Amino acid sequence: RLDERTREIVKATVPVLAEHGEAITTHFYKRMLTERPELKNYFNMTHQKDGKQPRALANAVYAAASHIDDLSAIAPAAETIAEKHVSLNIRPEHYPIIGEYLLKAIKEVLGDAVDEEVIDAWELAYGEIADLFISIEDGKYKASAWTGYRLFTIHKKVKESEEITSFYLKPEDGGPLPSYRPGQYIGIKADIPDYPHTQRRQYSLSDAPGKDYLRISVKREGGTDEIPAGLVSTWLHDQVQEGDVVPISAPAGDFFLDESTSRPVVLLSGGVGLTPLMSMYKKTRDERDVYFIHAARNGGVHGLKEEMDGEQTYVVYETPSEEDKTLAAYDKAGYVDLDWLRNVVPKEADFYFCGPEGFMRAMNGALHEWGIPDDQVNYEFFGPKGTL
Ligand code: FAD
Repeated sequence: RLDERTREIVKATVPVLAEHGEAITTHFYKRMLTERPELKNYFNMTHQKDGKQPRALANAVYAAASHIDDLSAIAPAAETIAEKHVSLNIRPEHYPIIGEYLLKAIKEVLGDAVDEEVIDAWELAYGEIADLFISIEDGKYKASAWTGYRLFTIHKKVKESEEITSFYLKPEDGGPLPSYRPGQYIGIKADIPDYPHTQRRQYSLSDAPGKDYLRISVKREGGTDEIPAGLVSTWLHDQVQEGDVVPISAPAGDFFLDESTSRPVVLLSGGVGLTPLMSMYKKTRDERDVYFIHAARNGGVHGLKEEMDGEQTYVVYETPSEEDKTLAAYDKAGYVDLDWLRNVVPKEADFYFCGPEGFMRAMNGALHEWGIPDDQVNYEFFGPKGTL
């Protein structure tokens, strides 16, 4: 355990570091990835460009440091991050490298504003935080269905909408599949032809457990004139074919259906955020009172439509097409809002949501306004962990 003086120094300097948080972590990534280019195989290189990864790391480190007296206060956040790390195959030997470059970045960005004593205190604090993650992750690796990557064959590739395609994965070794909790994801290791680094992404399992395959459903991030297309999703859509083999990490994640209660369940999804909720829906629809509300731009991009076939399912299209109107394919045009929501779902329920950030913010705000207790509200980010 750190001595009191060290802890005091760290707590006192958290605001200084937080103020320069993104500058420090941006510098950190730049230098580390230049000097240790092999680490580019572990990081999402797109998130380096859009700043999301440095932001997420900065927030995580400062949150931990401000609770250095009692790291158990960050347990829920640590749990989410550790699950992600396990799915990325992050190992104890990676932590000292991160620590080294983080301290260098603090020194270089803050210069004279920090003295040797402060740097030493942060080195010790980083060590303590790293040890916490290493021990949580060690437990998870031991409990995992397999560690690292297992090869899976693309058994079937099915187009679900204009943008979403499902991939049915079967283990190449022919061995049994693990069970998983509906809502969890797998990791995929992508070695894309002509792209210089291995890239890793997570995809939620979109079918109920207990099948002889794992299914993921992926949105093609096609990009625009200004924004480059997504690396892994376009590779999966355009290049990966039935019969191909891809390395997959074991199911992980702390966003899953709480099966210890029989309370009603309300699932709220936006766009491709429906995948973890579809798994929950299929697993539990015959056992509990389940409501599934899905928001999409229109019917053309609404994937897995025919699997939302229960009575308590509601479809909300932002701008329904003429065909959607003719088919009366939706329950509401526009957005999911609280006035509508309180008429279609019960308040005494467990709520789960996932979707684009704007959608998640709106759902979080609506549930908060409605007075749903925090411990009945669960959500997943399809990107670096953020805050709502
Ligand atoms: P990336 O290359 O990572 O790019 C991401 C986005 O940024 C793209 O939209 C791209 O067009 C844009 N972009 C590229 N370059 C730039 C730039 N310079 N500036 C600004 N923007 C840029 N996805 C699913 O489809 N289905 C799922 O079930 C699913 N489940 C997930 C579960 C979890 C827990 C997480 C964390 C993510 C999940 N995702 C899911 C998202 C998925 O992991 C990928 O992030 C997604 O497929 C995009 O990856 P990519 O490599 O195609 O895009």
